[in-house]
Amino acid sequence: MNAPLPVDVLRQHLIDPEICIRCNTCEETCPVDAITHDSNNYVVDPDICNGCMACVPPCPTGSIDNWRLMVRSEAYSVQEQLGWEELPKEKSLPTPAVESDVLAPAADAALPASAPGVAATFTPAGASVPPWSAAHPYVNLYTHKTPMTANVVGNYRVTGADTESDIHHIVLDFGELPFPVLEGQSIGILPPGLDAQGRPHHARQYSLASPRDGERAGYNNLSLTVKRVTEDHGGAAAHGVCSNYLCDLAKNDTVQVIGPFGHTFLMPNHPRANLIMICTGTGSAPMRAMTERYRRRIDTGENGKLMLFFGARTERELPYFGPLMKLPRDFIDINLALSREAGQPKRYVQDLIRDRAEQVCALLADRNTCIYVCGLKGMEVGVLDALRDVTMQSGQDWSILHDVLRREGRLHFETY
Ligand code: NAP
Repeated sequence: MNAPLPVDVLRQHLIDPEICIRCNTCEETCPVDAITHDSNNYVVDPDICNGCMACVPPCPTGSIDNWRLMVRSEAYSVQEQLGWEELPKEKSLPTPAVESDVLAPAADAALPASAPGVAATFTPAGASVPPWSAAHPYVNLYTHKTPMTANVVGNYRVTGADTESDIHHIVLDFGELPFPVLEGQSIGILPPGLDAQGRPHHARQYSLASPRDGERAGYNNLSLTVKRVTEDHGGAAAHGVCSNYLCDLAKNDTVQVIGPFGHTFLMPNHPRANLIMICTGTGSAPMRAMTERYRRRIDTGENGKLMLFFGARTERELPYFGPLMKLPRDFIDINLALSREAGQPKRYVQDLIRDRAEQVCALLADRNTCIYVCGLKGMEVGVLDALRDVTMQSGQDWSILHDVLRREGRLHFETY
């Protein structure tokens, strides 16, 4: 008699605002639209989240993987979470609640997605694991609270001066302090000043354009590819806070850096691994890093094949056009898709994948091949369709191959 009433307990899913780099990956990944954001934070709606874990592996920082046991009626609301600067401390539950948990669906978070009670299986387009031979990445060494100061040692434009695409190659040096990175990782830049609400700007994420041993081999530096943002996706005038800050930096200026981030978009590390690289515009940054890693060991005989599909409006708007075209043809198979070159038909990367179906299929048939896609969000569907079409033409089942590529960490997307 008088046994305590069971208390409804929720394992509440939260995002750490101090580590989150606001890259939108979780919101895009969530199959039930439980994640939302404002200009301050990314947050999880406790009334919608079912703990399916789909958002956890793709998060480049791990900020997504935070959980609190809460009495359900006291769960942190979306509105509360949007105002946070840091995660609240763990609260202890009332004793009866611990003794007689009535578990909410979210408490099944550790179950596989196929477990009863867990929402529809979610299958992302790309892998959530790196290739088996990838080197070990370091992540979150420097955070919003403990950023690293880097010195600007180079900043120059890598697109034609007469074009609208003002894309810069920016080199940052870390002096004596460690900042270990791998190709395919990214860093966060903290732009100075305050946002419209009077808070410090949150970090903006940029992929590395240089390989692990530095923009200049043996130096403690790295490079970024940054496009000056002057309009939004709809074409209306907009001033990109961080891109304009970075593009205007002068030599010897200092920059606050956090990171590194990312543990899946990594290149294979074993000999004779082939890379198919598919990018648009500034999405070329990680492809430059990987290509340069291969170029530096060209004489070792370790390299597999490199095949690049690179989309830009015109040759003059294609970042790194000059250096790219100087690379030996037997080192890298370059396919340029130009969409607005005068006198030429509009071409997208997916058109060229179809044009080169035989060579693409030959590489796909080799288990040493990894595929990387980086750039505009819109290309993702087009690239997947093209890969499906060329594999099916060659008599293979794309759904089986797609599944293998994902499982083996051989197909990666980083699109915005
Ligand atoms: P952009 O100049 O706007 O576009 C590059 C090319 O892609 C153009 O030829 C464009 O053609 C074409 N394109 C447009 N829609 C396409 C589609 N659905 N499929 C295939 N191609 C398509 O590119 P950008 O401004 O440099 O943007 C690159 C993207 O990469 C940005 O969204 C950026 O956030 C992202 N990114 C950057 C980094 C970095 O570190 N800097 C890293 C990862 C991702 P048309 O416009 O002529 O139709």
